[in-house]
Amino acid sequence: MLLKDKVVVITGGAGLNGLGFATARLMASHGARVAVLDLERADPAAAAAQLGPDHLGIVADVTDKDSCEAAAAAVLKAFGRIDALVNNAGITQPVKTLQISGADYDRILDVSLRGTLYMSQAVLPAMQQQTSGSIICISSVSAQRGGGILGGPHYSAAKAGVLGLARAMAREFGPKGIRINSITPGLIGTDIIKGKLTEEKKAEIAETIPLTRLGRAEDIAGACVFLSSDLSLYCTGITLDVNGGMLIH
Ligand code: NAD
Repeated sequence: MLLKDKVVVITGGAGLNGLGFATARLMASHGARVAVLDLERADPAAAAAQLGPDHLGIVADVTDKDSCEAAAAAVLKAFGRIDALVNNAGITQPVKTLQISGADYDRILDVSLRGTLYMSQAVLPAMQQQTSGSIICISSVSAQRGGGILGGPHYSAAKAGVLGLARAMAREFGPKGIRINSITPGLIGTDIIKGKLTEEKKAEIAETIPLTRLGRAEDIAGACVFLSSDLSLYCTGITLDVNGGMLIH
């Protein structure tokens, strides 16, 4: 039980095949009370109910500052504290540089980058009062290698921005007892890649990965549990690569 009595908030956590829900499930199994935040259409209440009776589902749009603040207030009202936040909400779009419109740019950057800022801003006051907390930002291998496999350049830019934001916040809030770290997943089999890669293409990609397979949502969940637990008390500002060796640098 690595997270006994801890309260964790996970954005974009309602997709049952996604990284966020796998993280919610593993965290709940380690004793955490989990608040699953997601858009209304993703039905966060139903996802939270699947975890058991001690958890909360909240409709929240991370691109909307008021919505983030209302969600943080609801978690504090229900559970009285916030020990960890996983900034997981993100969307992608497989287009090339010359095809990116202004609206595409806004949409992709707003969810990953603005959303990470707004949601962190919403929980930081409570973490400051507690003088403890852990924020985990889900970036992507795409930020490090200049494109993953599916996201366009604006997605790489959003995820690289997340790394810079997380490191700067880590520097600022370290003295207050708050740790802020990033995870850079490789290619993980979730809905975000559904229908976009043939089985043949997936096998071809797996051959280029030292651990010879695509990632599973549980691989990222394990890293999130580590970074939100006391096992990682001396880690802040780090980027934890979880990519099967896809990018060894
Ligand atoms: P997913 O599509 O299953 O999950 C994304 C979730 O974010 C969904 O539940 C969606 O409803 C939610 N969401 C979208 N816009 C939102 C908003 N404005 N406010 C709140 N929630 C919103 O995809 P996933 O693969 O589980 O991705 C989770 C995170 O991991 C994303 O940030 C993604 O960019 C990142 N990532 C995924 C991979 C991969 O290969 N799957 C690789 C690297 C990084």
